[in-house]
Amino acid sequence: MALPVGIDFEFRKLIMDVHIGSDKIKYCYQCNRCTDNCPVASVANPFYENVFDPRLIVLGTLLGYKDVVMMLAGTKSAIIPWGCTVCDTCDTVCPQAIEVTEIIALAKNVTTGAGLAPDNIVAQAKTVFESGKAIPSQPAIERRREQLGLPGVVTPDVNEVQTLLKAVGADKKL
Ligand code: SF4
Ligand code: SF4
Repeated sequence: MALPVGIDFEFRKLIMDVHIGSDKIKYCYQCNRCTDNCPVASVANPFYENVFDPRLIVLGTLLGYKDVVMMLAGTKSAIIPWGCTVCDTCDTVCPQAIEVTEIIALAKNVTTGAGLAPDNIVAQAKTVFESGKAIPSQPAIERRREQLGLPGVVTPDVNEVQTLLKAVGADKKL
């Protein structure tokens, strides 16, 4: 896969500023421990056209290669950066104490802002916005809980959830 080489300095600054206000990211020496220990990379890479590679994401963002992150996110078969389950393993094993998951979260936000989030992610976010829950209540679930003697699921305050999401501008992205 040929990667574009344009450097986006604004994107690079965004990464530097957001990365816990520190410059730790620049001490990444590409040792690959994050990718070697990533559970998603270990199972997903053989099946996807574009590899899921946290080390590559760190490198791409550090260098300001916004197009790399955007292009990968916008590719139909890509799971970058959306394959990340935020398990935090990469943060734990990084010898330079770089918060890789923070970088990936930012990459998700930037790609969402550009309208490149996968359809299933957008649909899931809409569900949360409309119902206050990732999985809306269903009669079958309620019946099963009742059979098992479990208490009913508390209905969330949708207005409260929407107020929070609007405060961070999530409603405009959906
Ligand atoms: S483990 Fe840390 S230093 Fe090593 S490649 Fe990943 S982010 Fe860079
Ligand atoms: S937080 Fe994401 S990138 Fe890091 S190890 Fe877990 S799945 Fe992989």
